[in-house]
Order: sequence, then structure tokens, then C-alpha cells
Amino acid sequence: MSRASFGLLLLLLLGFLIISSSATSDSIYENFVQCLSKYSSPFDQASSIVYAQTNSSFTNALQSYIRNQRFNAFSTPKPLIIVTPSDESQVQAAIICSRRIGIQLRIRSGGHDYDGLSYVSDVPFFILDMFNLRSVNVNITDETAWVQAGATLGELYYKIWEKSRVHGFPAGVCPTVGVGGHLSGGGYGNMLRRYGLSIDHIVDAQIVNVNGYILDRKSMGEDLFWAIRGGGGASFGVILSYKVKLVRVPEIVTVFRVEKTLAQNATDIVYQWQHITDKIDNDLFTRLLLQPITVIVVHLETINLHYLLIQML
Ligand SMILES: Cc1cc2nc3c(=O)[nH]c(=O)nc-3n(C[C@H](O)[C@H](O)[C@H](O)COP(=O)(O)OP(=O)(O)OC[C@H]3O[C@@H](n4cnc5c(N)ncnc54)[C@H](O)[C@@H]3O)c2cc1C
Repeated sequence: MSRASFGLLLLLLLGFLIISSSATSDSIYENFVQCLSKYSSPFDQASSIVYAQTNSSFTNALQSYIRNQRFNAFSTPKPLIIVTPSDESQVQAAIICSRRIGIQLRIRSGGHDYDGLSYVSDVPFFILDMFNLRSVNVNITDETAWVQAGATLGELYYKIWEKSRVHGFPAGVCPTVGVGGHLSGGGYGNMLRRYGLSIDHIVDAQIVNVNGYILDRKSMGEDLFWAIRGGGGASFGVILSYKVKLVRVPEIVTVFRVEKTLAQNATDIVYQWQHITDKIDNDLFTRLLLQPITVIVVHLETINLHYLLIQML
């Protein structure tokens, strides 16, 4: 076969693959919308929460929460459809329809999974994207908050701050991380030494199980409640929301950073830091970042500035 005809054959094959993939996507879309309309309410909204590959907003919806650009390539497998529930019954219906139609479901909240597990798969799949379910209800009287899975950590922190300057929640450093993946996986951040992990402060949760039922702590039982606090939510169902216990924080916190290069004796600081960091006061959080090339950054966050300076320098 000549090189030209081989090229033509490849082109035809590619065209065929694209057409058949969008045909599959289209038929999955039709079936899904029909199924969602049957099992969710409001029934007439089903088509507005499902994006087919041919929808002009599909790429935008897909890429908005891809936080690891490694999985944003042309060759990265794409979901056949994206479902963006704006109400809990639509999450229930999506699980039921995923089983009925026989298509794998990937759950995405903030999209920060290091391996892209919330939006990539080796088999045909769809994304259940939780970004519309992101309300945060803070109750300062009993020092708790209900936070939906699609909220980001930054939104949780901000909503708490709006209600009180002396309350907070111990979770990750990066404000764009999603509550759904973070809290089901553990969660550590600046208040780690004082208050431990995020999951140490979860008091209730709502999850949709494989049969489409909504369970809370009481109805899911303590074993499942334990599992979704560290075991990764996606293995057990779709987390709708967590109820968290807030922690007390000082109204004023001192934060500062010290940057040292190798020429400024950074090696010695790194060495010394390892010997004092587990012994200092629990109200003090220090983070040491080794940054590329020749720069070493020591990032310190503290409410006890002088103590740390004496110890470190
Ligand atoms: C830039 C960056 C900074 C980070 N900083 C920190 C940090 O300071 N501290 C820390 O502890 N971790 C940190 N992480 C790790 C992060 O907490 C985890 O990757 C976490 O799982 C991300 O959650 P997500 O909802 O954003 O991600 P997603 O990719 O949406 O989800 C992650 C996993 O959880 C599952 N999942 C998501 N939502 C649900 C749900 N509603 N129900 C059931 N399963 C669900 C997904 O299917 C996937 O398997 C960071 C990650 C990145 C990329």
C-alpha cells in the first residue's frame, strides 16, 4: 500500500471513530436524559443538567475542574456525557440510571485528584460533577456547619469567617480543593498540629448509596461512617454533604515566611528544622518548602513568633 493511500485509510478510520464515538455519546445522552426524567424531580430539567459531547459547553464543563493538566491532553479519554445535578434527587437518579444503562460513573467535586480518578477512565464512563451542590450552612450556636461536596475549602473557610472571627475548620492549604474528595480522604493543613485531620471533626454525613438511597450517619451505620472519613468516598457511594464541628481559632494569627538560599546556609536550617519541628508548641505550625533550582523557602505560620525565631535561627 502506498504512503498516500495508507494516510487516507488512517484519516477515514479516525473519521469513523469520531463519528461512532459521538453517535455513542448521543445515544447515551438520549437514554440518560430519558432515565433521569423518570427518576428525578423536577422532571423537565433533566436535559439542562446533562452535557453531550456535541454540546458547545461540553469542553468547558469538562476542563473547568481538571486540576492536573497532565490529564487535559487530546489523548486523555473523555466522558461520554457530563451530568451536573443541582438537586439531591438528581444525584439519586444518576446512580440509578448509571446502573440501568450500564455505564461507569466517575464522581467529581473539586477535581484535584492527583491521578485524575474523578474524570478519567479506561472504560466508557460519565462524570457526575458536583459543582452545583456547594452550599455551606454555618451554625455558630452549636459550632457546626453542613457543607455540600461541591464546595471548595476556600468557600467553607470564607463562610465560617463571615459568621465568626474566632472559628475555623482544620483542612487543606489549597483553597480550590473540593470538600467531597478532601474530607473523604483525610485532609490536613495549617491547623494539623493543633487539631489533627479534617476527618477528626466530621460529625455527620449524607451519602447516596448504590441503590440510590440517601443515608445519614444513623441510617448508614458507624462502619460506613468510619469508611467515608479517610477511605475515599467514591468506593462507597456519592457523598452529598458533611456536617463538621468547627474549632476555636485566635482572632489574630501571625503568618510570615523566611526565604534562604544555599549560600545563606539553607542546608543547615533544613537540618535543624527536622530536629525541632516535632517538639515545638502545638499552636505553632511550620512548613518547609524546598523549591527548585537554588532557592530554599522556609514558610512559617505561627501565633508565637518569637519562640520560633529563637528556635530556628
Ligand atoms: C493543588 C493541590 C493542593 C492540595 N493540597 C492539599 C492539602 O493542603 N492538604 C491535603 O490533605 N490534601 C491536599 N491535596 C490533595 C487533595 O486533598 C486530594 O487530592 C482530594 O482528594 C481532592 O479532592 P477534590 O474533591 O478536589 O478532588 P476530586 O478529583 O473531585 O476527587 C478526588 C477523589 O474523591 C472522589 N470524590 C470526589 N467527590 C466525591 C463525592 N462527592 N462522593 C464520593 N467520592 C467523591 C473522586 O471520585 C476521586 O476519587 C491537594 C491537591 C492538589 C492538587
